Amino acid sequence: MNIISVKNAVYVYNSGLEDEVMALRGVSFDVEQGEFISLIGSNGSGKSTLARLLNGLYLPDEGEVIVNGKSTLTAKHKDMFDIRRTVGVVFQNPDNQMVASIIEDDVAFGPENLGLPSAEIKERVEWALDRVGMSEYRKGTPFRLSGGQKQRIAIAGVLALMPRVMILDESTAMLDPRGRKEVMDTVRRIREKEGMTVIMITHFPDEAALADRVIALSEGRVVIDADAHRALSDVETLRQYGLDAPLCTRVAYELRKRGVELDGNIITDRELREKLCRSK
Ligand code: ADP
Ligand code: MG
Repeated sequence: MNIISVKNAVYVYNSGLEDEVMALRGVSFDVEQGEFISLIGSNGSGKSTLARLLNGLYLPDEGEVIVNGKSTLTAKHKDMFDIRRTVGVVFQNPDNQMVASIIEDDVAFGPENLGLPSAEIKERVEWALDRVGMSEYRKGTPFRLSGGQKQRIAIAGVLALMPRVMILDESTAMLDPRGRKEVMDTVRRIREKEGMTVIMITHFPDEAALADRVIALSEGRVVIDADAHRALSDVETLRQYGLDAPLCTRVAYELRKRGVELDGNIITDRELREKLCRSK
């Protein structure tokens, strides 16, 4: 079953005003439970707007967003509550996502708002902190953590709500390479252990290459929706939308132009290494 279905969604900011912006111009795609998708697109292409439509924070002006069988447009209070719980979002700035001065209280904030019994809250917090590899910090304060660690706490906060879909909206954009790697390893671990559906918005092509499927937006429209190897190895199509392929893909592209024989779609360093060893 599709956990998310987007049908011709249109979203307009400041509708009817002079500064009207049509951020989404008829977006359609389906997400199956368990998929790992990266959502790419240049600045202003509509990625964050789409993320907000997917968890019911914004409602489409035209078309429909269906989460877990329920349309966000017609959802009444209880259904909207379910939709928000089904789709958790981790944002870009870790500092804006901290609410408490003790880490475990911070992670407990969401489940407490759901009104869960305290034993279950405790269990969820322990589980979520374990999944992001931050259990040993649970009594500490989030403010002294590195950016990568803060983002892992933010991810734990979303995990503790046990969403079926987790959206990361450029959650590594403000981190140094080490922090980025920490967060990406965390996402990978959650994928492996929980099989959670993940939609990762990123402008780093090497991060996008970790997903199974890539959706690219350009000016509020879906311009690419394909298997990650196909999408990210198409250097020229990506370029057309102002996007870069992963570095190893661009290296392979240049080598091929110079006559090196490299077969298949290369989107990871490992694939490039293996193909180079075998090339003539
Ligand atoms: P992305 O996340 O891909 O950078 P956004 O979804 O943030 O793109 O923005 C899509 C378009 O909507 C852009 O043109 C942006 O300027 C506009 N936009 C985003 N948020 C607002 C807002 N709150 N008010 C008006 N326009 C907005
Ligand atoms: Mg954005």
